[in-house]
Amino acid sequence: MKVAKFGGSSMATATQLQKVGNIIKDDPARKIIVVSAPGKRATDDVKVTDLLIQLGEAYINGESYEESYEKVLSRFREIIEDLMLEPSLLEDIEKTVNEAIRKPISSISKLDALKSIGEDSSAKILSAYLRSIGLEASYLNPKDAGIIVSNDPGNAQILDDSFSKIYALREKVGILVIPGFFGYTEQNELMTFSRGGSDITGSIVAAGVKATLYENFTDVDSVYTVNPTIVDDPKEIKTLTYREMRELSYAGFSVFHDEALIPAFKEQIPVCIKNTNKPHLPGTLIVAEKKPNEKCVAGIASDTGFSSLYVSKYLMNREIGFGRKLLNILEDEGISFEHAPSGIDDMSVIIRDSKLTRDKEEIIKRRIYDELHPDTIIMHRDLAMIMVVGEGLVSTIGVAQKATTALATSNVNIEMINQGSSEVSMMFGIKAVDLNRAVKSLYQVFFD
Ligand code: ASP
Repeated sequence: MKVAKFGGSSMATATQLQKVGNIIKDDPARKIIVVSAPGKRATDDVKVTDLLIQLGEAYINGESYEESYEKVLSRFREIIEDLMLEPSLLEDIEKTVNEAIRKPISSISKLDALKSIGEDSSAKILSAYLRSIGLEASYLNPKDAGIIVSNDPGNAQILDDSFSKIYALREKVGILVIPGFFGYTEQNELMTFSRGGSDITGSIVAAGVKATLYENFTDVDSVYTVNPTIVDDPKEIKTLTYREMRELSYAGFSVFHDEALIPAFKEQIPVCIKNTNKPHLPGTLIVAEKKPNEKCVAGIASDTGFSSLYVSKYLMNREIGFGRKLLNILEDEGISFEHAPSGIDDMSVIIRDSKLTRDKEEIIKRRIYDELHPDTIIMHRDLAMIMVVGEGLVSTIGVAQKATTALATSNVNIEMINQGSSEVSMMFGIKAVDLNRAVKSLYQVFFD
């Protein structure tokens, strides 16, 4: 039994849904289908989820919401009419939107309820379409599928009890179409996962039913060795391990949601990233282990938007609790950190810019001065991180030398180097302005 998840671009138009229908028809093992909300039809288009958020925010702020309301419905109207499905489907969607708007619930729950309608409607439409082409298919609400989640609106986490309930889906007859992106709490409240969370639903369901494969259909042929917007036509990755994918998706590889790997990884379900527009291509397979002779570096990930808080104090290495106290200050101020490379007398804490307003920066610096009495505190903004990722790093000599030589040759100053204890990745902190040049030079030495 395979679980197939189709992303927003696969659900964006009637033509895309027809491709989805053919893919499902092609392989009887594709028994459980998870879908996203309709995504962008072109680069300047707006995703249905974003339209629903606009609608919810306008309603909550007492502003006029009619325009977003009409935009949401017209996206579904277009798909339903083009597929020549029953008009009652649209009436049902309209009713669901109106109920979510009017329901007397908190603003945050209202927003979650509205956000979920994109996926929910997609699943209803796809199941109706599959029936119209002669397949036995039904819509299954996440509650009935057994997806029980924590009470964190917009960031729900799956509860362990779900998995045994989901296992029972194996007994169901026909194809099941489940909306991605949301589940229900034990108190029956609807909660969405973080953005892009339909991947998470797919992985949860694949782990729950112990699928032989979790197929994640998107709009790219495979995962690439490097960001294709930086390097033209980069090489494709055929196989990745879970650990490599985790490291790559952390720093900018957005093909697959980083949280989505966990359920598949726990049950060791292979994940295949494929293209809905070219389903005959093999895509990228993510598995627990690779053959040892495969390339040492699997990919190069990169992302901007980092800051580094540098703190130094003479004899820091002898001061018990220095690092803990420094990180405690961040914890008190509600800031998570990414890495904390340290030397004998200094420590850098890498933080995502999005978590660090200028006001917070001032508060943190003041507290560090007052509580830790350091010699220096410097905040470096506008940094980028580059990760060279590969299981082979642990046993290959000269990877760091190759990488640093490439960076030096392209005249990029390295602000920070960090090799995680797992030795699956090597990380370089550089100035964001140097990013493209740095990534191109690394790609050249490792892949060209
Ligand atoms: N529709 C949701 C989003 O745009 C979830 C998803 O597509 O995976 O974030």
